[in-house]
Amino acid sequence: MKEYTSDIAVIGAGPAGLTAALYAARAGFSVRVLEGSAPGGQMLSAHMIENYPGYASASGMDLADTMTAHATSLGAEIVFADVTAVIPHENGFTVRTSAGDEEEYRAVIAASGTKCRKLGVPGEDALTGRGVSYCAVCDGRFFTGKDVAVIGGGNTAIGDALYLAKFCKSVTVVHRRDRFRAEKVLTDRLSSFDNIRTVMNARVEKIEGDGRVEAVELVSTAADSLSERSVLPVDGVFVAVGNIPTASYLADIDAPIFDESGYIRTDERCATAVPGLYAVGDVRVKSLRQITTAVSDGAVAAVEAAEYLTAHMPVYGTSV
Ligand code: NAP
Repeated sequence: MKEYTSDIAVIGAGPAGLTAALYAARAGFSVRVLEGSAPGGQMLSAHMIENYPGYASASGMDLADTMTAHATSLGAEIVFADVTAVIPHENGFTVRTSAGDEEEYRAVIAASGTKCRKLGVPGEDALTGRGVSYCAVCDGRFFTGKDVAVIGGGNTAIGDALYLAKFCKSVTVVHRRDRFRAEKVLTDRLSSFDNIRTVMNARVEKIEGDGRVEAVELVSTAADSLSERSVLPVDGVFVAVGNIPTASYLADIDAPIFDESGYIRTDERCATAVPGLYAVGDVRVKSLRQITTAVSDGAVAAVEAAEYLTAHMPVYGTSV
């Protein structure tokens, strides 16, 4: 016989996980949030958030702190743990961590988000931390007065460029297509900086440098100059080419819970094909990945999990 650690395990303390924890705790359930890093998720690398209702302009770190404090003030417990497996059984779930712990829960909410996609080019791994970075907010200040490149064309890349331009000597945004994916409200701001330049229709072939980044080698993707090469001398490279889902701890579950890209499939109640297992935020299949949609998921899943536990596990023993 093993005791339940808590009613609900929330895996990941980004906005989706923190909201799920807040709602579940407020509904009277015991909740443990298992986070392998600092609470806040991708909010921690957002310099400025301007589209979270109620906050015209908030620093990502401040919003992360506020959400974390709110969840814990209602009784949610946040612990440092790297989850390696979630195993469903008839009385709930066993959750394994990289520290070798095994914990029992009645329901699980996967809120583990995504991690940065790499470019996969020569020089990238060897020069990571030596000029190659995946977080402008974390590392940008090291490049004050220097020339940097931002690779990508989404909201993150453009947001990073706008942030870095305030203290870098020059910022070159390199995008593989002729049009940015980022919202117009962000791309419109690029022209207000004299030190931001854009290189469209180009992909990075190689990151060069002897112990530190010195240049990126670019190859044209434009039809009229296909495969033309150029070298862009830079001191830093900020890679912002999107994300990949983080859900390998569910890989052994014998149910069709993943789509072809590895995101978790759910219904609109955030329920997966496994009873008692929910997925929220960026890690689930959805059309819009924002803090607002993450917190919405967290609320929905927590209410659904609460109803599931009440209906299916009405006799609350302390042991599995
Ligand atoms: P994203 O929207 O997926 O954009 C990734 C960008 O990288 C795209 O422009 C893509 O090019 C490019 N790319 C992908 N693989 C590449 C490769 N191998 N080589 C070169 N370029 C590559 O990712 P994101 O900007 O990180 O945003 C992730 C999510 O967070 C999005 O849903 C976004 O809206 C959200 N977000 C929102 C905000 C905000 O609301 N202010 C801020 C940040 C992020 P293509 O365009 O050609 O595909």
